[in-house]
Amino acid sequence: MRAIRVESTGGPEVMKLTELPTPAPGKGQALVRVEATGVNFIEIYQRTGLYKLPLPFTPGQEGAGVVEAVGEGVTEVRAGERVAWAGVVGSYATHQLIPAARLVPIPRGLDSRSAAAAMLQGMTAHYLVTDTFPLRPGHMCLIHAAAGGVGLLFCQLASRAGAHVIGTAGSSEKVRLAKEAGAQDAIDYRKQDFEAEVKRITAGAGVHVVYDSVGKDTWEKSLRCLRPRGMLVLFGQSSGPVPPFDPQLLASGGSLYFTRPTLGSYVLTRDELLNRAAAVLGAVERGDLKVKIEQVLPLADAAKGHELLASRKTTGKLLLVP
Ligand code: NDP
Repeated sequence: MRAIRVESTGGPEVMKLTELPTPAPGKGQALVRVEATGVNFIEIYQRTGLYKLPLPFTPGQEGAGVVEAVGEGVTEVRAGERVAWAGVVGSYATHQLIPAARLVPIPRGLDSRSAAAAMLQGMTAHYLVTDTFPLRPGHMCLIHAAAGGVGLLFCQLASRAGAHVIGTAGSSEKVRLAKEAGAQDAIDYRKQDFEAEVKRITAGAGVHVVYDSVGKDTWEKSLRCLRPRGMLVLFGQSSGPVPPFDPQLLASGGSLYFTRPTLGSYVLTRDELLNRAAAVLGAVERGDLKVKIEQVLPLADAAKGHELLASRKTTGKLLLVP
């Protein structure tokens, strides 16, 4: 098999395509032939060392493919079955060993690239909209990086839940895409002060919830966009980590809530994983949720994928194919 390996953390150039022995699945595992794997921002944090992984490692944590073999005791999947996964590290590869309980079936009418593209970012947008702060008609929400991979799926799910969606994005083309995906209002936050714009749009009241994945550059203003008892959902830090802050900020903002969720805590059981994945993949299969695949790169070009994602030039999903 071939896999991208990171021997030491650093820039995109530390990712090297390497030949490795193809492993045999152990107890409870399946060996999957990877057909497509997604590039996600978390892999940039792991490659640079912001999030620690034991070295050496193969980046990537979502994909779609075909089960080639299963180990002892596996009941969840069979050889030949088409499957998808998210949150299991090691997907920038031609083959991956995956705990069978972490695999979900791909609906018959859905191609592997769309399945890979929807898994991690789609389930993220899904849990944020349905569980972290369950959106209902009448809610006003602010979604940062609304034209990104998570962002475009998020705008669709949030607006379908009946919320008034205000999105931010970093160019006029991205603003257009966020609106097309369901944001009623979209702010180019590289040109406009998003706090002032949110106050204007909400007639001074503020929003019920801000979903912030940008972090360092936005979190303080995000808090100031909230109405009393509103919630700041910090789910990423594409611009850098949020520094430690005084909880008194939450009191003075009007008894605000702050949470830092991760997908792993929202797919805790096999049932929860199957239901959430089925909701997302089913919606994509029916055409109710549109996945925008921005670029498909060969596996060997993983470094280019990271450069593109970090450059703020992409909208939607980047895929690698072995
Ligand atoms: P995106 O496609 O959204 O790419 C990141 C976007 O962030 C950029 O396109 C850019 O959009 C914006 N951005 C703002 N400032 C910067 C900066 N300084 N450098 C780079 N980008 C910047 O990536 P993903 O969809 O993969 O992920 C989005 C976020 O969601 C990430 O922070 C990721 O870690 C997080 N995430 C969290 C999960 C969780 O469960 N907690 C799960 C999955 C993702 P613009 O130009 O419009 O500002």
